[in-house]
Order: sequence, then structure tokens, then C-alpha cells
Amino acid sequence: MSSQKLQLHEYFLRFLFPPRCICCDTLLPFKNPMELCSDCRENLPVMHKFEHRTPDGTNIGKVYCVFGYEKGIRKAIHNLKFSDRPGNAATLVDLSYSYLERFFADNSVPFMPLPVYDIILCVPMHPGRKRKRGYNQSELLAERLARRMNIPALKKVMVKAVNTPAQSALGKAGRFRNLIGAFKVKAPDLVKGKRILLVDDVMTTGNTLEQCGKVLKDEGAIQVDAFVVAMRRKLSG
Ligand SMILES: [Zn+2]
Repeated sequence: MSSQKLQLHEYFLRFLFPPRCICCDTLLPFKNPMELCSDCRENLPVMHKFEHRTPDGTNIGKVYCVFGYEKGIRKAIHNLKFSDRPGNAATLVDLSYSYLERFFADNSVPFMPLPVYDIILCVPMHPGRKRKRGYNQSELLAERLARRMNIPALKKVMVKAVNTPAQSALGKAGRFRNLIGAFKVKAPDLVKGKRILLVDDVMTTGNTLEQCGKVLKDEGAIQVDAFVVAMRRKLSG
């Protein structure tokens, strides 16, 4: 939920479902501007860099990320994925964006307050897994980021055709092999010649983003950067 004034429907929703902190689940005052308690806000695992360069020769240009995959952010992402808390997606994006917005403003050239992308895409989830969970958390994150950046988020452009084991269950070599050939572009016309911002929840080794970036570049995307809510801090450089 953004820090803007509450809309009527939001009042109604908060009456039915009192707001709770996305990190520690504490019940919050009715008018709390964001679903985050003051303790968790003070202890957010904010990284010292928000724009992370990837090695030359990879298919992802850079990765925007504000948080380390730690503390309350780790809990909020875990609950988003495994405890049926889809609303956490909007709060996580709003939180990240409040930092990124200042970062973009400080580093932008005049009249170009935001980096330029044509479309936002999410890392797709296999349809079977999405049915089971009820939603793809990366799609919810992409939709919220699209609203904040005023760039269209397109669905069904890229799909995950193979239901691979979860990356988190595998070692380094397994993670790399696991995803080869897993992603397919279904609508190449929407990708060709485009500057794309790809969205995911967590970056661990970067293999998932890289495999998505590869199929998008193979279909003629001219630039693929990424936004993730959190990354393992040792990778943040
Ligand atoms: Zn909290």
C-alpha cells in the first residue's frame, strides 16, 4: 500500500482485514501509511548499492535491488510465496521504489528522471505451480512496479514450459543445468527491438534471470535489465 492518502475501498478493506506488518505480522494502527511496523522499518536490510552490474557477456545488463535477502524482507518474501500473502507484493515494491526513486533522481540526466524501458516482464512460473499457489508472486511484483513506473507490464509474452525443481533445492551446477530450455518466448513480436525490465522476487546466483535474458535476447530484445526485491548480499559486490 502506498503512502498516499487512503482511498475509500482501502478503508473498507482495512476495516475487514486490519493491516499487519509484512515482516513480523504485528497488528498495525488502522491509519498506518504502509504495512510495516516502525521496528521493522528501522531494521530494513538496505544495501549500500541499488544498481548492480552483471559480468560482461551475460544477457542481463544490470540489476536494480535495494534489499539484502535477510531479516524482515526475507520473511515478507517467504510469506508472499508460501503463506498466501499476495498483498505483500505491493508493499515490497513500494518500499523498494521509495529508495529507487531517490536514487534515480540523484543519478539521472535532466528531463530523464527514470531509466527508459518499453515493457516490464515477470519471470514466469510453470502453469501447474501457479495453479497450486494461486498466483505468480513475480507477476504481482511486476504489475505494481509497472504502475509505479508507468510502463506496461505484459503477460504471457514469456512462459516457463518445463516444471523444473525449485532452484533453492539445488547446488550451483544443478541450478545452471536445471533451467536450460525451460523458458520460451510466446510473443516474439512484442519482444523484438524492445528495452525490457525483467522482474523477480529474489536473486541468488542470477541463473534464472540469465536464462530469461537469453531467450529474450535471442528473440531480438535490445536491452534486458532486471529488478529484484532482494538478493544474497555476497553477490551484491
Ligand atoms: Zn514489523
